[in-house]
Amino acid sequence: MASEAPAEAIEIRLRDLRPGPPVSFIARVVQVERREITRKSDGQRRPILSGLVSDGTGTVRFTWWDPPAEEIDRGSVLRIVRAEVREYLGRAEVAFTYKTRVAPAAEAELPRLNWEEMPVRTIRDLVPPDEGFRLDARVVRVSARSVAVGAERRSLFEGLLADGSGVIGFTSWRDFSLREGEAVRIGGGYLHVYRRRPQLVLDDRSMVTRLPEAVLPPLAKLWSPSRQSLARWEAEGGGEAVELAGRVVGILPPSGLFYRCPQCRRRIQQGICVNHGPVTGQPDLAARLVLDDGTGAATVNLDRPATESVSGLTLEACLERLRSAPDPSGIEELLWERLIGTSWTVRGSAYVDDFGLSVRPETIEPTPGTEAPDADRLRRRLA
Ligand SMILES: [Zn+2]
Repeated sequence: MASEAPAEAIEIRLRDLRPGPPVSFIARVVQVERREITRKSDGQRRPILSGLVSDGTGTVRFTWWDPPAEEIDRGSVLRIVRAEVREYLGRAEVAFTYKTRVAPAAEAELPRLNWEEMPVRTIRDLVPPDEGFRLDARVVRVSARSVAVGAERRSLFEGLLADGSGVIGFTSWRDFSLREGEAVRIGGGYLHVYRRRPQLVLDDRSMVTRLPEAVLPPLAKLWSPSRQSLARWEAEGGGEAVELAGRVVGILPPSGLFYRCPQCRRRIQQGICVNHGPVTGQPDLAARLVLDDGTGAATVNLDRPATESVSGLTLEACLERLRSAPDPSGIEELLWERLIGTSWTVRGSAYVDDFGLSVRPETIEPTPGTEAPDADRLRRRLA
């Protein structure tokens, strides 16, 4: 292919793709699947890659005949020269054949977008793999999390946006200094499906500007979780802003005291991290409560502060107890004894997977009119 004459292909943006002569473009792989098909002429198996590529102005299907053996990861940016354009079910799509050159490219080479070019969308309109839109919304919440990417650690910002039409979760690999409550215009993000729900992803090409306060109603008007039965939330597949209430009917493992790797924060077993080998673990506390409201059940995943506040058991108290009774499963029993039968109202986000409805709480409070946790009794037990 290198000996071929310079390609006479038209440089295009994907939103302008029409069936016609070969085209060249730079795009990111947003979805990719490798499979084998049987060639009609000789019955031989032949590998193909297919999926979606996007340059921020449009997203199109691609088929890559006889692709390289190496994995092509989702998110890779590729320079594609002389792709064939075909029409399938009324939509233009591209095929990479033996005439096409495909090479890695840098994110900075993707087309520059400007605000005027981007169609305006509301959160309710957003459907994966939509992108290249602009969105005005308020930041409901945002927090930074340190995640392992190969051997290094990077900061990932995640949170929730609301605009009055709906609520959507977002993640960003770049720090846009977002603050809770502020009104922002966001462009150049893309959507993917996370836990069966659309999520907005911001990367190095995304743009964020602050909007005047008056552009959007105050946060409390844009975002208030609605209260529904557990059966209803499960039928709807969860949501970004849910409120539910129920009684604790079970506590699932892993709950109680455990240890994390100091480097990658993974849970470790017997002092061994799967990434880092023998390490000195850092103690942590968590609980997975099964709530039931008569219509259905949900698993509520509590981190350390939430576990401490609902159970009255602090991490320090658990470690203290472990010094005298060195069996960590005793902590799970204590959680059980403390929480079984108690009633809670939870607000947060929820999703449905093979195990049913799971809730990540923003707040968890005793349901009014039910018995409050008895911290004194617990302290006596620990003493
Ligand atoms: Zn580790």
